[in-house]
Amino acid sequence: MAILPITLFGDKILRKKVGTIKEVDNETVKLIKDMFDTMKNANGVGLAANQVGINKSIFVADISMVEGYEKTKPMVVINPKITFRFKEKSSVEEGCLSIPEVRLNIERPKNITLVYFDTNMKKHELEADELLARVIQHEYDHLQGVLIIDYVSDELKENIKESLEKIKKGEVETEYPTCLPADRLQGKRDYQLK
Ligand code: ZN
Repeated sequence: MAILPITLFGDKILRKKVGTIKEVDNETVKLIKDMFDTMKNANGVGLAANQVGINKSIFVADISMVEGYEKTKPMVVINPKITFRFKEKSSVEEGCLSIPEVRLNIERPKNITLVYFDTNMKKHELEADELLARVIQHEYDHLQGVLIIDYVSDELKENIKESLEKIKKGEVETEYPTCLPADRLQGKRDYQLK
């Protein structure tokens, strides 16, 4: 078990498009375990690989601790593609482990269809709604280099500008480990994913 430091807003890796996973080797299995540990430690419901410094198309999600979603199984999502977004939208407050203390109302389609691969590289098609659809869209966005702040008006962005500047410098308190780009680049690379 390893809890990985989470990359913060301002780190370029959060803005890069990720690479495709070609095979789930032992390194990938280890990464997935560590991503679950890291997400749980941070009380998150989803975590994308680039949030732990890995530039690959994979995210984990677990909403089973949320009331009403106890039966929803934890998910490992590899090489996802959202293939359909329903027209009906809802607006719900979201946070992001890479943007601590910032919470924003984000409008998203209520339902989506997702095609993805599991850890056996078996292809799945999933229709998701409500909270699961929202978490999937948030994490999917991460893999495209998109963050929640990209959805808000310039006016609102102005309001959170100061918070964002602080996060960029690592001047934010979190109950989970985070890292700045310099630390991430200096750190040992545990994963050599194909
Ligand atoms: Zn996020």
